[in-house]
Amino acid sequence: MQRNLEKLKTRQFDVVIVGGGIYGVCCAWDAALRGLSVALVDKNDFGSATSSNSLKIIHGGLRYLQHADFRRMRESITERKNLMRIAPHLVAPLPCIIPTYGHGIKGKEVMAVALAINDLVGFDRNGLPDPQKHMPRGRVVSREDCLKIVPGIDENELTGGAIWYDCQVRNSERLLLSFLHSATRAGAVAANYVEMTGFCIEKNRVTGVKVRDNINGTDFDIHGRLVINNCGPWLNTILMNLNGHTPKKKYKMSAAMNLVVRKKLFPEFAVGISSKTEFRDQDALIDKGSRLFFITPWRDYSLIGTTHVQYEGDASDFTITEADIRTFIDEINAAYPPANLKREDVCFFYGGLLPEDEYPVTEGDVRLLKSYKIIDHSLDGGLDGLLSVVSVKYTTARDVAEKTVDRALSKLGRKQVSSTTSLTPVFGGEIEHVSNYLTKEKARAFAGLNDESIEHLIMNYGSEYPAVARYISENE
Ligand SMILES: Cc1cc2nc3c(=O)[nH]c(=O)nc-3n(C[C@H](O)[C@H](O)[C@H](O)COP(=O)(O)OP(=O)(O)OC[C@H]3O[C@@H](n4cnc5c(N)ncnc54)[C@H](O)[C@@H]3O)c2cc1C
Repeated sequence: MQRNLEKLKTRQFDVVIVGGGIYGVCCAWDAALRGLSVALVDKNDFGSATSSNSLKIIHGGLRYLQHADFRRMRESITERKNLMRIAPHLVAPLPCIIPTYGHGIKGKEVMAVALAINDLVGFDRNGLPDPQKHMPRGRVVSREDCLKIVPGIDENELTGGAIWYDCQVRNSERLLLSFLHSATRAGAVAANYVEMTGFCIEKNRVTGVKVRDNINGTDFDIHGRLVINNCGPWLNTILMNLNGHTPKKKYKMSAAMNLVVRKKLFPEFAVGISSKTEFRDQDALIDKGSRLFFITPWRDYSLIGTTHVQYEGDASDFTITEADIRTFIDEINAAYPPANLKREDVCFFYGGLLPEDEYPVTEGDVRLLKSYKIIDHSLDGGLDGLLSVVSVKYTTARDVAEKTVDRALSKLGRKQVSSTTSLTPVFGGEIEHVSNYLTKEKARAFAGLNDESIEHLIMNYGSEYPAVARYISENE
């Protein structure tokens, strides 16, 4: 993939997408496959902001049951299956467990009902031809079985454990780049290190964006019939450039953080552990009074997340301090003492900003925005020719992109062509049965690679792995 700034400068595009996180790249692919001409720019590396900070869980949305939000559960369950279908090498089932306590809201009985409803709402979660993608039903297990999976957990009033399946994206950065390759293969013109600095505005209409090439410092305009703001945490920042048409409503951002630790605390399961810090979810039907941390196995490590704290500054100033890391370690050790984490166990930490809900919260608490938003600024008293997307989850980025492009087609007065991104394999995703493909390719020993290398390449680059293998042998 090459930056082609000449094309960006000289063409008139149907849509200009600003922001190449997971939302922007999915939108570029969906729009290009539906016949729109697309420009996509990011001021930095593609996927370098929030999208490279996820806990890598593709959520089926079990926790939305707390809010009886079945629509969002359906969206998430459907997306989970779509991602397994279109990126089979990168997305696979992950068993999850939460220990149950007493016979009330955190008890086995309530969780058994929750799991049954979850299975009912996800009645069509299976059906992909690859047996590796099978999502078993949820189930509750005994206290003894729970202790085998989560040894050393607080045993006071422990009654058992609730087990269900979600998915993990093994390499979320690679998945984002696969969407990006798919978009450019479908005709989108994409360039990184191109920063939007302003809007082109003519007669109360946005007609493109002013940009700066952050590599050589030149300024130019990109012309488009519609601009889509996919800037994640910079959503508000770029809307400041609307010359007196800045929307009154601003989305407040909160900071979220994860740790990568050298210990594989649980080899197989993602384990949900209640924090000892109190948290009240005032609009939940079932308020459990604490946040859940997830400790998930990932390669030879554990990923631990997620803390949420309020954030006041500019999106570009977000950093994680040593104090943040130590506080998080203390919280994990308080919630699960056998973890016994020390600072030197943490080999990586990362975080990003997520939009908060408007609901008034007690000081210090964070209530995340629950659902994405697609804002048509012309309906908001603002300028025409501009859509903004408020993103909340990696999991549903493709689905939101599909809905954004539906909106774009109607704004552009184009015929509604159905989206095909839920059925079309991403770049590298042409694999029907992952284990059969691995066996076949290992037997072929492409480019003289050993089994381990072939497996590693396939699990990251999928069916496109020979291009990487060839590159390696040509550039030893
Ligand atoms: C700690 C943490 C854990 C998470 N865990 C999960 C999880 O397990 N599962 C899940 O589903 N979701 C998870 N999420 C949420 C998910 O990561 C985000 O919802 C998603 O990545 C947002 O993507 P985005 O494309 O909107 O934003 P971003 O990835 O931030 O992309 C926005 C892009 O816009 C670019 N940009 C900004 N301004 C400009 C400009 N002026 N010109 C050009 N480009 C610009 C930026 O460089 C950036 O690349 C997590 C989030 C965090 C922070």
